[in-house]
Amino acid sequence: MNKEQSKIIREQAERSSSREHSVPLYLTSSFIFDNAEQGRAVFAEEESAMVYSRYANPNTTEFINKVCVMEEAEAGLAFASGMGAVFGSLATFIKQGDHIVSSRAIFGSTHQLFTQLFPRWGVTTSYVDAVDQKAWEEAIQPNTKIIFLESPSNPGLELVDLEWLAGLKRQHPDIIFIIDNCFATPYLQKPLPYGIDLSIHSATKYMDGQGRVLGGVVVGKQELIDQIMFLIRHTGPAMSPFNAWILSKSLDTLGLRMDRHCSNALAVAEALEAHSDTMQVKYPFLPSHPQYELAKSQMKGGGGIVTFEIEGGQARAFRFIDALEMILYTSNLGDSRSIATHPASTTHSKLKEEERLALGISPGTIRLSIGLEDQEDIIADILQALQASR
Ligand SMILES: *Cc1c(COP(=O)(O)O)cnc(C)c1O
Repeated sequence: MNKEQSKIIREQAERSSSREHSVPLYLTSSFIFDNAEQGRAVFAEEESAMVYSRYANPNTTEFINKVCVMEEAEAGLAFASGMGAVFGSLATFIKQGDHIVSSRAIFGSTHQLFTQLFPRWGVTTSYVDAVDQKAWEEAIQPNTKIIFLESPSNPGLELVDLEWLAGLKRQHPDIIFIIDNCFATPYLQKPLPYGIDLSIHSATKYMDGQGRVLGGVVVGKQELIDQIMFLIRHTGPAMSPFNAWILSKSLDTLGLRMDRHCSNALAVAEALEAHSDTMQVKYPFLPSHPQYELAKSQMKGGGGIVTFEIEGGQARAFRFIDALEMILYTSNLGDSRSIATHPASTTHSKLKEEERLALGISPGTIRLSIGLEDQEDIIADILQALQASR
């Protein structure tokens, strides 16, 4: 048994004396020691054992192990949310006077960390356009500690060339390279084998896939994960065993679901591109995407997000969203149910107009998270809403 999907399905917390088939939910805050000597040895780190669910729990460990299989990672840690994972992975490594280089198009709360919280701690961030390789190189300073990126980006779906990025890492071995791999999922994109140090996910999105629980995970080199563990252990953002139990089961079907998200999304992107009321349909696996060849080389599929611009600006965009019958309007993504979002008035409303335009977000931009419904029904709903919003 050495193929990825088999390993994920068969990764399982150690069976208890009840000989259960499916993994039980370990709702326990602490774990007992066999005797006083074992307690001493565990605390002295001579022996490894579960101690307290803020540090580790059989359900969270099982979830992490599955993500490590998918990402080809040495080690990982689970957090209560995606932002917990982003914050923990950054905060562990920065100190006063440090500098971060990040791609400009990043998740809203990560942007708040870089522009509001970290400056208070004496840490500055320079933003660069994801596709501008020269800008990445020029932004690096002697005090640069972290390079951070999302690929594909939200909602513009721009990619960073991971092969090129790995070359940059070789030139700057002391800088920690961190990717938020949430949009791609570890099924579609594996950044660690390229040489990227840490890969982060909001498990809330595709890993759960059904919009139920929050979760976050970071995987990468053992030596870096050990340092992040110090932060989890002493600040307490650990994932709940219940969420880990849900998420671990969900990972068994992540690959199957992503194949369907991808085929549905490609069909939607093609239908939108052929429609006269839309402009700039963005999807990594559309041949019109400027980085189509790169997408094909570093991703197994184009993902589940399609972004497009509707003719007629915000008023038309609002009419389109309100005219959708099956597809719901919510700011989440990566759900089995298709979702529509208007980034300019919601997820990116805190940005200035010119910042939005720099990210390719106009008043007519609509982001679709394509779900697992039948392709014909998704496309029919979009086409009728385009018609009704004229
Ligand atoms: C949703 C999201 C996050 C934050 O995750 P939460 O689980 O909501 O805290 C971080 N990065 C990306 C790319 C996301 O989509």
